[in-house]
Amino acid sequence: MKVCFKNVWYPDYEKKSLVRGTFYVDGERITFKEPEHIDAMFVDTLVTPGFFDAHSHVAMSLFRGVGDDVDLDRWLNEYIWPLEARLNDDYVYWSSLLACMELVRSGATTFLDMYFWEKATLEAAKEVGVRPIFTPGIIERPGWEAALQRTEELRDLGALVGVGPHALYTVSMNILPDVVKFAKKNKLFLHMHLMETASEKAYIHNVLGEEYLRRLEEIGFFELPVVFAHGVHLSEDDLSFLKDKNVVVAHCPQSNMKLSSGLFRWDLAKNNGVSVAIGTDGAASNNNLDFIEEMRTAVLLARGVSGKPDVLSPIEILEAATSVPARRLGLALGEVREGYLADLVVWDVEDLSMVPVDDPQDWLSHVVYSAGTQAVSDVFVQGRWVLRSKSFVGVNVSEVVEQVSKRRRAIRKEDLIR
Ligand SMILES: [Zn+2]
Repeated sequence: MKVCFKNVWYPDYEKKSLVRGTFYVDGERITFKEPEHIDAMFVDTLVTPGFFDAHSHVAMSLFRGVGDDVDLDRWLNEYIWPLEARLNDDYVYWSSLLACMELVRSGATTFLDMYFWEKATLEAAKEVGVRPIFTPGIIERPGWEAALQRTEELRDLGALVGVGPHALYTVSMNILPDVVKFAKKNKLFLHMHLMETASEKAYIHNVLGEEYLRRLEEIGFFELPVVFAHGVHLSEDDLSFLKDKNVVVAHCPQSNMKLSSGLFRWDLAKNNGVSVAIGTDGAASNNNLDFIEEMRTAVLLARGVSGKPDVLSPIEILEAATSVPARRLGLALGEVREGYLADLVVWDVEDLSMVPVDDPQDWLSHVVYSAGTQAVSDVFVQGRWVLRSKSFVGVNVSEVVEQVSKRRRAIRKEDLIR
């Protein structure tokens, strides 16, 4: 597929603004060299890189609305873990299809996932056309090594992978050094929940001490790229320690607020030089996978808790939502650049939420502070057209709705959902 984007506006993160120019999708990649023929053309509109959901559990969409009114402890122990014990490939496949469609509809083209039954999710992601990055969840219990095996299998299937020790309260220092060793041997990054709740903080301080990050450093944890999900209760000392450690914090504001886990301080992370990306977490704690909404919540929260309306500029938010995690993981995507993978969102600049403008630079503000999913017109992932004039290309929406609903009813029948 060869697509021309003629005189379009797109973000340039070095210039810190939208710039105007003509570029192309040629096969899987972006180029500024005109191909011999063109299959499709977009003119005079806004095009951004696809969003990078830096922390997700897409298969949890099946559990949307379950355990709405409890904290993380009770939510996991009384609702989620008992339900997950009943999951299988079939449930995960349909649930992932629903999730991948929600992501694409909101302009997300990559998601960094931690879960189980990844092959079913891989299949669903391929059908929708979105790019998964898998970090099979490691929880310390007999047979935990299976997660490492799944990581190798997924890599052999051509999927992008990392290593996913779930959290310091589910993975102890008994096995964490082996997990890090595996990641190092395979040159993979680490993805772990960290400091999501106050009770997790108390647990970590109790077991590993306040210098717990140094314990991680001693086992070589920071010799690899690291994505920490949440980071709500990271102290300023923690943040200053993390500054030069190759760490990205995946900020999941809606999940954190819904579970009453606390409020992440993006302003403090920024002051301490720690990179921040944005994640949806799962639909069971969010409760949707609308990335645009997540991005907006993140910036509004940062403004609200810091008391500083200029704490983050729209272009900084967009960069965190696209390029920051990709760059840290060494992936050539998340920017309109020669040779980068063609993950692009074409915006409907005539959508009610995108007008008025008196200068196209206004679109930057509109995407961050105003747009809804209805303003996402077309989405390309690695050059494949996956959302075309607001319609999914590879999936039958009503079939997915019907099949997911059927499985949700089946779970309810087993009396698993109270
Ligand atoms: Zn999570």
